[in-house]
Amino acid sequence: MKTNVLGYPRIGANRELKKVCEKYWKGTATKTELVDMGKQLKLSNWTLMQEAGVDLIPSNDFSFYDQVLDASLTYGCIPKRYQEIKEKESKLDLYFAMARGLQNKDHDVTAMEMTKWFDTNYHYLVPEFKANQDFQLFSLKPVEEFKEALAHNITTKPVLLGPVTYLLLGKEKEAGFNRIDLLHNLLPVFYNLVEQLVNAGAKYIQIDEPCLALDITDKDRQAIRKVYTELAHKFPELHVILTSYFDCYGDNLETVLQLPVHALHLDLVRCSLQLDDILNADYFNNNTILSLGLVDGRNIWKNNFEETLATIQKVEAQIGLDKIWISSSCSLLHSPYDLDLEKNEETLPFAVKQWLSFAKQKVDELVTLKELAIGSSSKDVAKKQEENKRAHQNKKESSVIHNAAVKARVGLLTTDDSERNSEFSSRQKIQKDQLKLPIYPTTTIGSFPQTKEVRSWRSKFKKNELSLEAYNELIKKEIEETIHFQEKIGLDVLVHGECERNDMVEYFGEKLEGFAISNFGWVQSYGSRAVKPPILFGDVSRPVPMTVNWSAYAQSLSSKVVKGMLTGPVTILQWSFVRNDQSRSETCKQIALAIRDEVKDLEEVGLQAIQVDEPAIREGLPLRKEHWEAYLSWAVESFKIATSGVADKTQIHTHMCYCEFNDIIQHIANLDADVITIETSRSKMDLLNVFVDFKYPNEIGPGVYDIHSPRVPEVSEIEELLQKASKLLPVDNIWVNPDCGLKTRDWPETKLALENLVQAAKTMRSKL
Ligand code: GLN
Ligand code: ZN
Repeated sequence: MKTNVLGYPRIGANRELKKVCEKYWKGTATKTELVDMGKQLKLSNWTLMQEAGVDLIPSNDFSFYDQVLDASLTYGCIPKRYQEIKEKESKLDLYFAMARGLQNKDHDVTAMEMTKWFDTNYHYLVPEFKANQDFQLFSLKPVEEFKEALAHNITTKPVLLGPVTYLLLGKEKEAGFNRIDLLHNLLPVFYNLVEQLVNAGAKYIQIDEPCLALDITDKDRQAIRKVYTELAHKFPELHVILTSYFDCYGDNLETVLQLPVHALHLDLVRCSLQLDDILNADYFNNNTILSLGLVDGRNIWKNNFEETLATIQKVEAQIGLDKIWISSSCSLLHSPYDLDLEKNEETLPFAVKQWLSFAKQKVDELVTLKELAIGSSSKDVAKKQEENKRAHQNKKESSVIHNAAVKARVGLLTTDDSERNSEFSSRQKIQKDQLKLPIYPTTTIGSFPQTKEVRSWRSKFKKNELSLEAYNELIKKEIEETIHFQEKIGLDVLVHGECERNDMVEYFGEKLEGFAISNFGWVQSYGSRAVKPPILFGDVSRPVPMTVNWSAYAQSLSSKVVKGMLTGPVTILQWSFVRNDQSRSETCKQIALAIRDEVKDLEEVGLQAIQVDEPAIREGLPLRKEHWEAYLSWAVESFKIATSGVADKTQIHTHMCYCEFNDIIQHIANLDADVITIETSRSKMDLLNVFVDFKYPNEIGPGVYDIHSPRVPEVSEIEELLQKASKLLPVDNIWVNPDCGLKTRDWPETKLALENLVQAAKTMRSKL
């Protein structure tokens, strides 16, 4: 029996990689400093796992930016626009240019596109393919890292992104071919890489093919069959570990069970039911080792030893211990580093901490589970087992988790609780009378520039260097300035600016009952960016209003309509670590009820428009289409529970950061928000077509300028976009706003951009 770790976090326990990368990009750290930091981080991960007693320690799971981009470099798949950089600059600079774009006196190239890694919050850089794309072994990173570890006497298991998944994750940048047909060109390079790893001494290689968790075609399956059959022929001595995660093998199961691989990895956290199917399948090749992914790589809860050991025993009875490995369900990349760093009882109470396990603790769990499975008599192991049992026992009954009133309230929900009083067409009339907004009303998405200064107040307040009173005074002043600013430039619907919020989810996590906040629970989102999801451990309730004072204060400063600003239940759920002892739908409805109370309170104090942001609704979609309906049904219901407690005259806005809704437009319409604001400027309104074709009935604010760039749009550009929109949608339904919040922008460019936005709306009105 072996313990197997699929991958380890790499940003560093104190986000060292983030810091050194950002310095390097700014020119304040040297290449040597950067590379050395990488070496240090790798070595400390390897050593940690070696000392803990892990049998299969990953290498090539480290990355300076992204593992898919690493693969593009390894396979020499470098888009033409980087050709000059490739010739003139170092590999590392080429790599960062592909990741982030490069603009200096010699070069001006855009970055590669970035998209979400399966259903995680991690983002990868999308490989770009042209017809007849050729590949070559351009970087030997996997081999170099293997040797790097070996030099420290650590024999690792290189992790490679499998060729089929690599191709499927990419995009054809020209017409006339299917990227899977590039396999023919890619395979010789891939085999060459494997050969070099074998020559360097690798005995085990983990090959990730998470496309096997998706709905793929027969042709894709055929490709999988080809690669892994050929690999076995070419490298009979090599132990290939075929790895997929995040969902069941599903209809790919028959294919993978017949492959001549040494071990097959199963994500039993995401798909426990497939175990029986596998053990009972008559095409199950009994020589294959099963890597049982039982320690959750995506969440932060302590493993339940009793349940895990029961599963192991079940498999053992059928195939024997020597055919079993115990593994993390997926790479630990998606877990924070180390629970031992959490020392702040106020935000993460011990009562909650005892139920948690971060990456380092998960490594220990794997090793302990192995000891238990093989019947170790060590006292230390027995003690850990006892502790584990105790933690799970007190979790079941804990009053910190269970709140009977909350559960009862969810139980009493009826369909009435998720419907507005009247349908949209009546509401629209009432709201037009009530709000008296001009045609083409202008607004923003909520946040205004969050300057260093504002952030320094919060950090001082948290360190007790600033009293609550002093902090609140500063926030009030900032709100006042933000309101006056908006009045001055002539926006129609104002916002308070969200300056009191560190993050749109963490802010609510801090206020709601049932959440804890870690201090160091960072998880990589992309490149040097990391997020710190709140920990949702218990029944959710709202002890006191969360935003009402700030919004009411903002409204008191202006006779214009001020919009209350909240994060929606699905987004709070999606961007938190969520409890695993009840269904996500149940948890989401609890959050929805808390937000509903906040919405009603905002209405009560006089806010006539309230925005409930749901940027994460689309990313919550399950990987396989067969599960979409179930998810969308409770996600839409949750949003509606949150927003339908108000009178018809109160205008509900929602915001989503993109607009690729072709396959779920019906559900977006079902949300029945009075106004939806979306991102459309980068596609020049093309993305709006889905709404047009669907005849989306409610009001829409298609973003008219890209807030991701400091560039100030001209009045004429905005006007042109609005002209386009006015041809597609009823004029009465159009709002004018940026693509998203302005938090990451600076004031000077924000001022100019919004002035132009207001001017464009005025010109449009004058042409009516
Ligand atoms: N109201 C939020 C803001 O303006 C919305 C951000 C988002 O959708 N990501 O920042
Ligand atoms: Zn947005």
